[in-house]
Amino acid sequence: MPKETLITDIQRFSVHDGPGIRTTIFFKGCPLRCKWCHNPETLQFENELVYTKKECILCGDCKEACAEKAVSIIKDKVYIDEKKCTLCLECTQVCPSRALEPAAKKYNSTDLAKEVLRDQDFYNTDGGITLSGGEPLVQAQFLEEFLPLVKNATHVAAETCGYWSYEALNNVLNMIDLFLFDIKAAESKRHEELTGKPNDMILKNLEKLIKDGRQVQVRMPVVQGFNDDTDNLAKTSDLLKSFGLKSITLLPYHTLGEVKLAKINSDISPLNIRSMSKKELGKISEFFKSCGIESN
Ligand code: SF4
Ligand code: SF4
Repeated sequence: MPKETLITDIQRFSVHDGPGIRTTIFFKGCPLRCKWCHNPETLQFENELVYTKKECILCGDCKEACAEKAVSIIKDKVYIDEKKCTLCLECTQVCPSRALEPAAKKYNSTDLAKEVLRDQDFYNTDGGITLSGGEPLVQAQFLEEFLPLVKNATHVAAETCGYWSYEALNNVLNMIDLFLFDIKAAESKRHEELTGKPNDMILKNLEKLIKDGRQVQVRMPVVQGFNDDTDNLAKTSDLLKSFGLKSITLLPYHTLGEVKLAKINSDISPLNIRSMSKKELGKISEFFKSCGIESN
């Protein structure tokens, strides 16, 4: 039996997740809990319900379908009692307006490979597929089966938080052409405050990837008031230089994650801040430049 995993989305014609035109696969589950997560529906490893209030016509079909009596309709909104819900997903099957949907769909490695290779003709020479999430690289066993099915046909990039076992990925790393590797904070204590995990293992993995000659592009999600202070930027620059790196990709904070947060039951609270402006991002870029690091 081929291995299965949960996928929250397959985004086609993506131009922001690596070189060229790409198909991005969002794996479900992540060991980190970044306060600003842009994809909060990918955090839990289990499936979950996504409720879009504006699509709900308050028909009550979900309530009728739920054998566990986990659904209530109060005023103009559906509520799910998490303690009663068994995630049978029956309510999502009967919802006529797709107001209730499962966050993810189960794929086996063969079907996922077929699905993404449908786009092969659009990748040209520099495009391909990007593994994203969530954290794709914690799914070593699935990737061991999936990557050989796509590797010979296309370029493979992985967007990663770096929090995984290098040893567990021994059979997988050589099938990934490009690592888009996030650094969120230079100091481990600060990293833990912002993401729930220290960064010691993350930095060791980055160092090993570079030493092993893998192609790595470091990226930094920049969130105003959380990691955009000059102390963190200077320490991040020092870190990059200590690894022999000369550039960083900046990912400015945007509020899409907060829109998604309103649709799920998450342990992350909205930051209630605006998206980062071009001018603010420009200043970060200038600071990195003054430290000898180019940014894009
Ligand atoms: S997923 Fe199943 S148990 Fe949970 S609310 Fe829907 S029907 Fe009820
Ligand atoms: S079945 Fe769908 S549209 Fe009807 S009340 Fe439930 S969530 Fe709303």
